[in-house]
Order: sequence, then C-alpha cells, then structure tokens
Amino acid sequence: MGDAKTVHSPLVTYFSMISLLTLCPPFVILLWYTMVHADGSVSQTFYYLKQHGVQGFINIWPRPTATAWKIIACFAAFEAALQLLLPGKRVEGPISPEGNRPVYKANGMAAYFVTLATYLALWWFGIFNPSIVYDHLGEIFSALIFGSFIFCIFLYIKGHLAPSSTDSGSSGNIIIDFYWGMELYPRIGKNFDIKVFTNCRFGMMSWAVLALTYCIKQYEENGKVADSMLVNTALMLIYVTKFFWWEAGYWNTMDIAHDRAGFYICWGCLVWVPSVYTSPGMYLVNHPINLGTLLALYILVAGILCIYINYDCDRQRQEFRRTNGKSTVWGKAPSKITASYTTTSGETKTSLLLTSGWWGLSRHFHYVPEISAAFFWTLPALFNHFLPYFYVIFLTILLFDRAKRDDDRCRSKYGKYWKLYCEKVPYRIIPGIY
Ligand code: NDP
Repeated sequence: MGDAKTVHSPLVTYFSMISLLTLCPPFVILLWYTMVHADGSVSQTFYYLKQHGVQGFINIWPRPTATAWKIIACFAAFEAALQLLLPGKRVEGPISPEGNRPVYKANGMAAYFVTLATYLALWWFGIFNPSIVYDHLGEIFSALIFGSFIFCIFLYIKGHLAPSSTDSGSSGNIIIDFYWGMELYPRIGKNFDIKVFTNCRFGMMSWAVLALTYCIKQYEENGKVADSMLVNTALMLIYVTKFFWWEAGYWNTMDIAHDRAGFYICWGCLVWVPSVYTSPGMYLVNHPINLGTLLALYILVAGILCIYINYDCDRQRQEFRRTNGKSTVWGKAPSKITASYTTTSGETKTSLLLTSGWWGLSRHFHYVPEISAAFFWTLPALFNHFLPYFYVIFLTILLFDRAKRDDDRCRSKYGKYWKLYCEKVPYRIIPGIY
C-alpha cells in the first residue's frame, strides 16, 4: 500500500476524517450563507446563530433541489463528454509505485475553451442565464456535499470489486481505505480517468465557470461590473487557464501520482474547490468595490507575475525531468542530484533532483507565488471583512502541510539522496526563513 499508510497514522486519519465529515459541510454552507445573505460578515452570521441556535442553522441549510441536481448533472455530463470525445495528444504519466505508466489524452485546454465559450454563448443568446447558478448556489453546494459522499462510496466499492490497475489495494482498515482511497488510477473502461474528471474537469473547471458566474451576476444586478470584480475574475481565470495549459504537467504531481482516489481528494475537488476556492469572487458579487484604475492595475500585474512565477517553477522542474537533466535553468546547465530508489516491486530506478533555479531557492518555493497569487485576487475585496481571506489562510496551511508530507515521502523514497538535497537546499518553503 502506498502513501496513505506510510504518511498518515490511523489516528490522524480518523481525526481528519471526522473533522472533514462533521466540520467542512456545515462550514461550506455557513460560508455561502455569510457571503450571499449576511454581507460577508462573520459576526452577523455568528449573531444570527447565537439568537436562533441549531434550529436557525438547520433553517439556513438549503435542501438539494431538482434545479440544483439538474445544473450539476448537465455540467458533469458535459465535462465527461468533452473529456472522452475531444481530440488530444497521447501523454504518458510518471511510473507508478507498482511500475505502471498511465496513459492520458491531453485535451484539457480544448475542454476549457469549449466550456467557457458554451457558457458565455448560452448567456449571450438568452438560453441560460448564469445568474440562475448564483441564485441556487446554496442548493448546489448542498447537493454536492451529499452527491460526492455517495460518489466516494462508489469509488470504495469499485476499488474492492473492480480495480483498474495493480496500483490499488486495501490497507486492511475500512476507514483508511475509504478516506485515503484504494486506487491510484481508477478508470471507467479503458479511457475515462476518474481523477482527471474529479480534479480537473469538474473541480478546476467549476472554479472558472463560477468565477464567470459571479462576474455576470454582478453585471445583471448593477448593469456594470466593478473594477474589483474584474481584477478578481481576470486573475482567477488566468490562474485556471494556466492550470489547463499545464494540465498534463499536473498529472505528474502528488495529487495524481501519489494520492489515491478517496474521500480526502475527491471531496476536496468536488465540494471544497467550487465553494471555498471561488469564495473571494462570491463575496464581491454583493460588494462592488471601486479600486480606481491605478490600484486595480497594480493588483492585476502583481497577481499575473505571481501566477507566472508559479507556472515557471512547475515548468522548470518538468522540463528538467523531461529532458533528463539537459534543459537550461536560468540560462545555465542545471545542477542536480541523481537519486536512486526502489519500487514496491523491488526494481531499482533513478530520478533526477534539480538543485538550481527555483528549486535551488527552497525545496517547495513554488508555494510562495501560489499563496501570493491567491492573496492578490482577494485583495480587491479590501479589508472590510475577514472572510474573503479565508481561502488564502486555508491555502497557506494546506501547502505548509503538503510540503511536510512531500518531504517525508521523498525522504523515505530517496533516503541519503534526499538528505543530500536538504543539505544543498536547506529551506523548505521560504528561502532564509523556513
Ligand atoms: P509537485 O508534485 O509538482 O512537486 C513535488 C514532487 O516533485 C515531489 O514529490 C518529487 O516527486 C518531485 N521533486 C521534488 N523535488 C524535486 C526536485 N528538486 N527536482 C525534481 N523533482 C523534484 O508539487 P505539488 O503537487 O505540491 O504542486 C504542483 C502545483 O500545484 C504547484 O504549482 C502548486 O502550487 C499547485 N498546488 C495548488 C494547490 C491548491 O490548492 N491551490 C494544492 C497543491 C498544489 P518524485 O517522486 O517524482 O521525485
């Protein structure tokens, strides 16, 4: 069994699973309620809950309606069809712990453009108004909370009865299997990759679609879009465009190559991304703040710069691996460590670790521009309320934990070679500090 068992103990798993199950769904609903109905003010929601207690909370929890299910079903079916049908280059993923090499069709960018063009065309020609999505947002999140739980049960059963590859198996503990997942590369048939669907085509795509939705909703309400909303939408869309531009690279990252398809990752992509990741835009719908052209431009440029640096870090690492260490890094031959490791089937293999460029500044420097970019697309909300900044704070905690998780995994994979890398590049995330 892979990461799940080695990285997190059963105690941590039980604790995080119980927290995720009990705290995150109500949080998503309260976040939506506060943004949409309580002026983005945590204290207003707190006061409401203090006055009305548990019953008050039950009253604000929207029931999943037929409209919500229809919107989700149409979106999911459309994305699944694009994933299966649009043409794309054949791409091979990294070698799995069992020595398999998954094969993908790289059609993410095409799916992204078709999705956004279709959504805008539906609005433009008066066929479907995105405001409907905003008006049913609470019901949609509520349906996603229940729907993705059922989806994860399906993944668990599939993992037991019909695994798609040898990169699967039980830890012997039902809770760990459900939570961290059983299969690394679950598929329906030979070609429909479930993690590409949940993480990219549903999760990340919903981020772009909701960013547009919020912008259109503000336009429909006020007859214009405030510059704060324009900066926020532009930065979030540039970020998601970058994601789809680089989607095949994402298939080499921890989410796809190391984390199994279980409740942790699927719930995150199906519920947390559409709700929490999009929340700064959700806030701005009812807060058409005017920044003025100059400030708006400064924030836009700073955000684009961060997104570019984050992209360049990922690109540098992947180019370096793809060319087997022969790419140039900041105009020079890269400095590197040749690290050998043993797969679970006992084979000895080697990987190259880049120790110059961005990857020589710190071992996870790419998280710095990732967090900064999120800060810059939230900044248009200014500082009247705390809640729009929740995503930035959450992301900081997530990435600091992820850096530790990745270091632990790499240490156990590469042993003395990782120690050598840590000696050459001593800082984990922030050069000179941490
Ligand atoms: P990556 O998986 O891209 O990078 C870590 C992996 O790269 C390691 O597991 C190791 O894998 C390999 N590696 C580590 N050091 C080196 C090195 N020096 N040279 C070459 N290879 C190395 O990281 P993430 O998945 O965390 O991040 C990918 C992108 O996704 C980033 O842009 C990040 O900011 C973003 N992200 C965004 C999140 C969000 O919620 N917004 C969450 C997580 C990530 P191997 O076993 O192959 O050696």
